[in-house]
Amino acid sequence: MRFNTALLHGNFTSDAKTGATTTPIYQSSSFKHGTAEELENIFNGREPGFVYSRINNPSIEAFEKRIAYLEGGIGAVACASGMAAVTLSLLNILKSGDGIVSGCGIFGGTHSLFKCFEDYNITAAYTRDSRVASFEECVNEKTKAVFIETIGNPKLDVPDIKALGEMAHSHGIPLIVDNTVTTPYLVKPLSLGADIVLHSTSKYINGSGNSIGGIIVDGGKFKWDFNKYSSLNAYKQFGAFIYLAKLRKTLFKDFGACLSPFNAYLSSLGLETLAVRMDRLCSNAFKLAKSLQSISEVVSVNYPGLAENEYQALANEQFEGKFGAILTIRVGSKEKAFKVINSLKYASNLANIGDVRTLVIHPASTIYATNSMVEKEKMGVYEDLIRISVGLEDIEDLLEDFMQALIT
Ligand SMILES: *Cc1c(COP(=O)(O)O)cnc(C)c1O
Repeated sequence: MRFNTALLHGNFTSDAKTGATTTPIYQSSSFKHGTAEELENIFNGREPGFVYSRINNPSIEAFEKRIAYLEGGIGAVACASGMAAVTLSLLNILKSGDGIVSGCGIFGGTHSLFKCFEDYNITAAYTRDSRVASFEECVNEKTKAVFIETIGNPKLDVPDIKALGEMAHSHGIPLIVDNTVTTPYLVKPLSLGADIVLHSTSKYINGSGNSIGGIIVDGGKFKWDFNKYSSLNAYKQFGAFIYLAKLRKTLFKDFGACLSPFNAYLSSLGLETLAVRMDRLCSNAFKLAKSLQSISEVVSVNYPGLAENEYQALANEQFEGKFGAILTIRVGSKEKAFKVINSLKYASNLANIGDVRTLVIHPASTIYATNSMVEKEKMGVYEDLIRISVGLEDIEDLLEDFMQALIT
């Protein structure tokens, strides 16, 4: 089954009971069972069934199965948000005293989360750059996970997933990949050797910016060393499903950061058109990046698809000729950046990416406002930088809009 077909038919059929073509929204907190024996069996994992929507729900499960299929994983756990997915994917295997080696260009929210982790004696070491050697030099005996984004947001650096998987595995550590910005349409990190993939489904998977969600997918292939990951020991009986079983039975259930059935429905609906949207979004982004390069008011354009970009060759290979739909430009000063944002007619000034609409933001004064100058620069955030999440508008309109905002 090819990708567009898989979006519609992968691990998914119409509703068995009614023939409904989309999974109904099971807006029910709990699920009634005929006998005490039946509920006992379901609670104890001896019989399949739904219990309580913080734990499982048919609308959410349908969404999980579809994403697991698209990513080539053995199963998935949907969460209330991308941040919940990042948090739970890591805490499922970390404990006090452990460390994470993280890419340097990661999303501000994740950077902020890693700061919170310090209170629990879990520390993140950030690499100097995206080279494998820079990751490896951060690995020590405390390291329990290597964490990257497929394209750092907003630094737009592109780590080599395959090489990093090999490096992490040589140290007995799993590679966890945030695939939000590229989606399984551009890359399936598990097929390149990553172990866990996660998403903020709020972005391209949902696509229309109408609900927050996240998801964790497990490849099921990592060989856990139970001395190193002792908390997994009690779940050995689940074999390849050990990571997912522990997650579902403990942190996911106990944190309570579950997805709502309504948001699972909206996200499933968005998912069905992912590839057609991504094709056009990536093509619009490429054209916009090329055009902005030719304007003297633009100091620099950062987009992995540009020929002179240091990540172009790797991105071209890893994402099969597409480069995502996020680009950044520098315009010389904060004042100029504000003026451009205020002059744009079509681009909405807001904190989001991956919408059908074009979105812009000044990261330094918003998402990264609480970071120091040094931290900002490490994450590729400058005072004169504008992040653009390109939408589905006609490219001619986008070009005209950016030209008038930049040149006047
Ligand atoms: C937005 C985002 C997140 C966080 O997701 P939410 O759904 O907003 O909680 C995590 N990673 C990346 C790369 C993101 O862009």
